[in-house]
Amino acid sequence: MTLLLLACTAPDTDSGWTHSDPLETGDTGEEPLEPKFDVLVIGSGPAGLIAAREAQELGATVLIVEMASHAGGAAWFAGRFLGVETEHQTNRGIEDSVETALSEWESITGAVPDAVIESFLDDSSDVLRDLVDRYDVAFTGPDTDRDAGAVERVHTLDGSTLAAGLLSETYDIRLDTRADSLVVEDGRVVGVQVTDLLDDSTTRIGASTVVVTTGGFARDLERVRRDRPGLTDALLVPETHPTALGLGHDMLEEVGAGWQNAGAYGVYVHSFESDGEAVLVHSIRHAMVVDGDGQRVFDELTLNYFESAETLEALVPPRLVLLASPGAATELAGTFLSYEPGVDHITAKRDELVEAGVLTLHEDITAAASAYGLGDGISATVEAYDRDALDGVDDEHGKPGDHLHPFGEDPVWAGGLAAGAAKAFTGVPLDERGRVLDIDGAPIPGVFAAGEVAGMLGTDAVGSGFTGSVTAVLWSGQRAGREAATDALAE
Ligand SMILES: Cc1cc2nc3c(=O)[nH]c(=O)nc-3n(C[C@H](O)[C@H](O)[C@H](O)COP(=O)(O)OP(=O)(O)OC[C@H]3O[C@@H](n4cnc5c(N)ncnc54)[C@H](O)[C@@H]3O)c2cc1C
Repeated sequence: MTLLLLACTAPDTDSGWTHSDPLETGDTGEEPLEPKFDVLVIGSGPAGLIAAREAQELGATVLIVEMASHAGGAAWFAGRFLGVETEHQTNRGIEDSVETALSEWESITGAVPDAVIESFLDDSSDVLRDLVDRYDVAFTGPDTDRDAGAVERVHTLDGSTLAAGLLSETYDIRLDTRADSLVVEDGRVVGVQVTDLLDDSTTRIGASTVVVTTGGFARDLERVRRDRPGLTDALLVPETHPTALGLGHDMLEEVGAGWQNAGAYGVYVHSFESDGEAVLVHSIRHAMVVDGDGQRVFDELTLNYFESAETLEALVPPRLVLLASPGAATELAGTFLSYEPGVDHITAKRDELVEAGVLTLHEDITAAASAYGLGDGISATVEAYDRDALDGVDDEHGKPGDHLHPFGEDPVWAGGLAAGAAKAFTGVPLDERGRVLDIDGAPIPGVFAAGEVAGMLGTDAVGSGFTGSVTAVLWSGQRAGREAATDALAE
């Protein structure tokens, strides 16, 4: 038997990504790896934990390796869950069905739903019920959200209860242990090379099947720009979990994995930038937002949605500048996100944002426009905005009248908006069993994936994405754990 540790890459001319062919990698001369576990799960976020749970319930021996010093990944922060035909909906008299959700799917995501989407929507109420019955996770709502369709489907939860619930199961988990590469023998993934981050030692762990659940890649801004080249000149900052480094993507690319749904990367444009991090802006809807030409380009209420990234790409630098008159600025505030479980986000009031240099205060709109290098168009834009504010009707973009506040001669608060790189709806492609597909669409033997590393569901039928993706993460995690255990136990 030949042992192959993977490194060799070849360019994939279609996507610009590089891939390697496991069959072309060299013999390292190391001893063959014996399977110590039926299933080895990389990452202990919601996808990894639920995958491990499912595999264990089928009788598989499971090891989880986690690079952080605590388990749970970004589950600690997830707050919104997409559910269709749930008891919460029924109890509130909300009429919804999988058919209705499917009929709205294209308008929500821009993609035609496939069989994976249908199964995911169909099972979403069971995923929710499991969390309620097994872990007492409480859900409120549901409410509507533009990225979840016209029906109230977005159920709100406290992520810490989700993480604590999933972690109440018994797992064999190695913290502070980073997976560095997949080990392949005879074209099959047979284990993982890991580094113990406490003493820097490396080992190889054998497993019959490996499940990669390493989350997204928002912290690798170079990869984000490669995935979405239009963002190259935008002020781009990560707006997600510190371990969203794309390490799982690197490992999977090295064994020849493909890439699906390129560019479907969740980018929010509702943040300022501070020390390379996103500071979420509150009450942005009351401000006026213009591009480098001084043109107002959309209803400020829509800035929170995924498709705002497309608008962003089409704009004149410096892209988006927020301008707020005293009437608009009263509730202006920001949130510095915390990624420590149990540590609250920090909210900064308007004047604290000025002190932090994130927001600047100017004598009037002319001074603000000059400070941000806005084009001549700003005078006409402000004139029109002031007129609309007095009339209470946004002629150009239809923003509700009570969100319009005239500038006049008053002081102005201003700030350059950053594109917050958040979650990935792009990633490695999966088949209907959660197996990772190579660049030719064939499953790579021995390796499964779930959650954000696979763009949530491993299919491009998620389009530009949807609100409440933690449902998809849990659903795909269950599938990967179940299928990986089934394959391992059949060996
Ligand atoms: C502040 C915040 C708010 C959010 N709000 C929502 C929301 O309201 N609704 C929603 O649906 N989603 C929300 N999300 C996103 C959601 O939490 C993620 O999409 C989800 O957690 C992804 O799950 P995952 O298991 O795929 O990955 P993650 O939760 O990111 O877990 C991946 C795990 O893998 C580990 N890992 C990575 N690489 C390696 C490696 N090489 N070796 C070992 N371990 C590794 C990481 O340390 C991490 O623990 C939010 C995220 C954040 C950060």
